Amino acid sequence: MAVKLAEAAGLEKLIGSREKRIGLKPNLVVSSPAQGGATTHPEIASGLISYLKKNGFTDIVILEGSWVGDSTVRAFSACGYNALAKETGVELIDTKTDRYVTVDCKGMKIEICQSARDIDFMINLPVLKGHCQTLLTCALKNNKGLISDSEKRRFHTLGLTKPIAHLNTAVRNDFIVVDGICGDLDFEEGGNPVYGGRMFAARDPVLCDAWAAELIGFSVSEIPYIGLAEKLGAGSVGPRRIRELNQNSGASAAQSSGSLKPGGKVKELTALISGENACSACYAGLVFALSRLGRNERNRLGRISIGQGFCNKKGSVGVGQCTSGFDSFCPGCPPTGAEILSFLKGKPHYPGA
Ligand code: SF4
Repeated sequence: MAVKLAEAAGLEKLIGSREKRIGLKPNLVVSSPAQGGATTHPEIASGLISYLKKNGFTDIVILEGSWVGDSTVRAFSACGYNALAKETGVELIDTKTDRYVTVDCKGMKIEICQSARDIDFMINLPVLKGHCQTLLTCALKNNKGLISDSEKRRFHTLGLTKPIAHLNTAVRNDFIVVDGICGDLDFEEGGNPVYGGRMFAARDPVLCDAWAAELIGFSVSEIPYIGLAEKLGAGSVGPRRIRELNQNSGASAAQSSGSLKPGGKVKELTALISGENACSACYAGLVFALSRLGRNERNRLGRISIGQGFCNKKGSVGVGQCTSGFDSFCPGCPPTGAEILSFLKGKPHYPGA
């Protein structure tokens, strides 16, 4: 799928000169394989490296610095990137051991690793997942792996929002491929993966995160760093032009989530769902939306039906166009998490709000 996204976007033309140094920036925040919902599937980087090599690009590196409590070296190994580097000859750069330069990021000075400054074209590979402080982590926040550990600590003392927005005025986000395969419900370190079976690409990190927020049940205004990054000129939340590839062609959520081991919270949420051949993106949107409700609110709703098995059937509450015969249903195919949440709360949804 990463190759399809690259081809659809005309990535080789976007990059241009074959002399350019290309960086791939996955999210390897912790040393835990992608099935846990925290880190970028190495197959995505692998697909892009094959595409780049086939198109004559040879100067390719992978850069990352895990969070303060973990070792990037361990993460490269545990997440499959050592094997990938061995197979492809691509260099791995641990940004924790890099030199740093202090850069003025639109009024905030931030220490950024020199290796990131040396990149001519950066491909950001974030995981779409929840975050216990910022609610969402996707493209904008993923670039935190390009700063020093002491800078990461300082970001937390500053409350993350402002420094994340400022950082993205100085780091490159030339192309973004989002791993929305099984991002965690609430925590950047994983443990509660929700199978979404989805990937998407973008060229603007602000637009990317605005869309990502809605997919997992947030409005853009709930993630303040998106609006601040836009104000600082790092991108724009709209207008959106979305081109879909392979809509609903993936396996159903039930079929695809077999290898995941979600924690108790996901199990508690899925117990409220009656799914019959639900597409993964639709099902994941409902799980994310349910997680935004309080327990009492959730329990008042009763069981919610979702999936192609409910086409032309009658019922009480349904999600997705397949349940259009129900007394009450959330339209869309698939609806976003934000649309589902508005429906469950009985409120109209305003995209991009
Ligand atoms: S509404 Fe669309 S995305 Fe959702 S289960 Fe039906 S076909 Fe799949």
